[in-house]
Amino acid sequence: KFVVKGKDSGAKVGLTVRNVIAVGSGKGGVGKSTVAASLAYGLKQSGATVGLMDADVYGPSIPHLLGATGQPAMKQIEGPDGRTIERIVPIEVDGIKLMSMGFMVGEDQAIVWRGPMLHKALSQFLQQTEWGALDYLIVDMPPGTGDVALTLSQMVSLAGAVVVCTPQKVALLDAGKAISMFKTVKIPVLGMVENMTGEIFGQGGAKAKAEEMGVPFLGEIPSDPIIRIRGDEGKISRLVQEENPVQDAIMNVSSNT
Ligand code: ADP
Repeated sequence: KFVVKGKDSGAKVGLTVRNVIAVGSGKGGVGKSTVAASLAYGLKQSGATVGLMDADVYGPSIPHLLGATGQPAMKQIEGPDGRTIERIVPIEVDGIKLMSMGFMVGEDQAIVWRGPMLHKALSQFLQQTEWGALDYLIVDMPPGTGDVALTLSQMVSLAGAVVVCTPQKVALLDAGKAISMFKTVKIPVLGMVENMTGEIFGQGGAKAKAEEMGVPFLGEIPSDPIIRIRGDEGKISRLVQEENPVQDAIMNVSSNT
């Protein structure tokens, strides 16, 4: 039976979530969202209750990867002081509660915001969403080392961050920066995941980088067309449900996390 590690990660903002885990990367396009979604499915598969929040507000890809559509409903409840509070009902797919800016805007619509708006959107996603009691809330961060990490680290006591990276040098350099950023804002780095391991990008770079930076290495996910295909189909779920090397790799990363 699955053992829940943390407790009260979200208590600061009134959440009943034991572990809020950020998934970040130095660069874009390294498979951060794919890994965040797979991690959510992996943890779910091990028996945990899981939510997935897309904090990549400028490029929300979680709805697309999970084939989730629709608009979250609003509901009104009575607050402790008798006043009416508006709550957002998350979209649920395969038993995973989802929240993303992607549900709020059209597919080709750009979000043009400055920092304070971003802060507001994130705090609404966290605090106004009816997450309920969760063992894990996985947060798909925007790539890089900007505002969102700072905002999130101020809002909740993150249980930790997972940094996704591909094995080649340029990606590893930026992953190193992401790790430093998490350390600076006192978010524990749970470890690095090497994604797209294989002939094209190489192998072992992330493991070496993790050792160099003194953080755990959580595992490798192979570069495999099936991952891209399942993402395009909106069926990331199948990656953790089917018997293949990809499933093993994802379950390995989930259990190490
Ligand atoms: P990011 O969130 O870092 O921008 P995504 O998760 O959106 O990256 O992935 C970028 C693209 O790469 C997507 O089309 C995705 O399906 C594909 N992809 C991610 N990981 C792999 C992998 N291990 N093998 C093959 N394709 C992958």
